[in-house]
Amino acid sequence: MKQYLMALDQGTTSSRCIIFDRSGSILSQVNREFRQFYPQDGWVEQDPTEIWASQMGVAVEAMLKIGVGAADIAAVGITNQRETVIVWDRKTGAPVCPAIVWQCRRTAERCAEWKREGVEPDIHRRTGLLLDPYFSASKLSWILDNVPGARVRAENGELLFGTVDAWLIYNLTDGRVHATDPSNAARTMLFNIHTMQWDGELLRLFRIPSSMLPEVKASSELFGYTAAHLFGGEIPIAGVAGDQQAALFGQCCFAAGDVKNTYGTGGFLLMNTGSTPVNSEQGLLTTVGWKVAGEVSYVLEGSVFVCGAVIQWLRDGLKLFSKASDTERMALSVPDSAGVYLVPAFVGLGAPYWDAYARGSIQGLTRAATANHIVRAALEAMAYQTADVLDAMRREAPFPIGAIRVDGGAAANNFLLQFQADVLGTPLARPACVETTAKGAASLAGLAVGYYADLEDLRASWRADRSFLPKMEEERRTALLAGWHKAVERSLHWAE
Ligand code: ADP
Repeated sequence: MKQYLMALDQGTTSSRCIIFDRSGSILSQVNREFRQFYPQDGWVEQDPTEIWASQMGVAVEAMLKIGVGAADIAAVGITNQRETVIVWDRKTGAPVCPAIVWQCRRTAERCAEWKREGVEPDIHRRTGLLLDPYFSASKLSWILDNVPGARVRAENGELLFGTVDAWLIYNLTDGRVHATDPSNAARTMLFNIHTMQWDGELLRLFRIPSSMLPEVKASSELFGYTAAHLFGGEIPIAGVAGDQQAALFGQCCFAAGDVKNTYGTGGFLLMNTGSTPVNSEQGLLTTVGWKVAGEVSYVLEGSVFVCGAVIQWLRDGLKLFSKASDTERMALSVPDSAGVYLVPAFVGLGAPYWDAYARGSIQGLTRAATANHIVRAALEAMAYQTADVLDAMRREAPFPIGAIRVDGGAAANNFLLQFQADVLGTPLARPACVETTAKGAASLAGLAVGYYADLEDLRASWRADRSFLPKMEEERRTALLAGWHKAVERSLHWAE
């Protein structure tokens, strides 16, 4: 009986491998950071070879750490930074240029041109996405137009394109498998989320030869086997999902209305909308959660640009404390924020405001305000921003909110989560296993090989560390939210 599942969690700044047992406990975990390159203003690149080598390195180390071999591992699941583009030679596996990372803005001007041509509504209808450099299509198009010889080679069928999952699968299988899953494909802006196929119209618009594209398999399915020489035996690769969707799955948000929120550097709120892709009028993204057992689950996604990053700013910029975890004690040392609001619109505001010219502000200051009040206002702002996005989802989704589950570094903060439950007026829960992204990938893989029987079996392995119930009186809640919206109002259009 093979006892373990292995998750390869290829993130934006580090590659991580986690080995889980059947109860969902972590037996071994290894993390390795890799280099980021900023060759020009707004450009972000990574070395595909380093991505692969670091991911392979941590996998081997994680196995050695607890003395397990390929024969002990039932399956491997992959989760990854989304949208990042890699193009490589079909025969040799050599990348034709650096990976263009999701954060890279090099195609901003080109995207603005496409917008002026009026193609955005059609793209949105097909993909559920907004026309933005963030997604893969414009980056891939840039490579074909700018890397010498790339377009000709691509048209001759010599080059392959993939997001990071496809790149890892290609390398794990010694080049035998070129495939991705629908949660990753849905972020390329080349994939039609309604037909669940690569979209011929979009391929024409972005001038992408279809021979470059990976096959789109289900998120929980046998993709192939790792080449025997890598881990001393073959292991089935059986689960694949982009990081945010994997976290939603890892949180067991399987029902329509279930929500997970990640409090990381930024915030990522995803709601499962079941078999219905819900179209958003408020700038939320409609995307694919996963395809499991022949069924597609769609999600609504909203992000908060500056979430935990506001805590970093208070620590490193204003030097109000030395550790992020100090903020819980500071916030609890005062009964309220003394009327202070901090709007962390450092890079504008996203959903539901969509104002690139909004800028940060601290408002409501009196002589009574202390560092503790400002810290408290910052944590409260993280909760208010999340509440704004969830409100937008509530308005658009045709069913009630189900479970709300949280993760990410700042979800360790109990003050934040209690305040979040209070301003939402809804209970929320933090899981015992905070590695929800890796857990999701492992779960998808485990499901495909029969390690887990079904979703119920997985639900049984999800355990709450702590639940937070709303305790605030309605009057206070309404007053606080009104104050927040007034503060946001006065931060809009600032840099126009
Ligand atoms: P990433 O998005 O880089 O994966 P993490 O999920 O590791 O981020 O979360 C780190 C973020 O959470 C940082 O921005 C940090 O300031 C914030 N953070 C970490 N611990 C706490 C805490 N106890 N209270 C508030 N914020 C925290």
